[in-house]
Amino acid sequence: MRYSKQRELILNILRNRCDHPTADSIYTEARAIDSTISLGTVYRDLKVLEQTKQIHSIKTTDDKLHYDGDIRKHSHFVCNKCGNIFDIMAKPRIPSILKGIGKVEESKCVYYGTCKGCQ
Ligand SMILES: [Zn+2]
Ligand SMILES: [Zn+2]
Repeated sequence: MRYSKQRELILNILRNRCDHPTADSIYTEARAIDSTISLGTVYRDLKVLEQTKQIHSIKTTDDKLHYDGDIRKHSHFVCNKCGNIFDIMAKPRIPSILKGIGKVEESKCVYYGTCKGCQ
């Protein structure tokens, strides 16, 4: 498969998942479909996809980046105990004080805590 096809494959995998997988997890899934794909390609394509705003990344407590194919504006809640990432579909509020500083083009909001299952 060509590189662009592999990038498309990675994007499709991400769009079909709602569990915010890591690069390793995406790699495992991509590998099952296209055995020629390498982990390096997965990392590179994820980077390109993020730069072109087709996916989002979330930093969690396990120090690994997790990826999200859902680019609708939403926030995340990360459980410090089980590592689960929950989607919060409410739009993050932009403090009005920011207007005096500049125009917000993007915001990333991640809440950390303990989920109900772990409490
Ligand atoms: Zn939890
Ligand atoms: Zn999400």
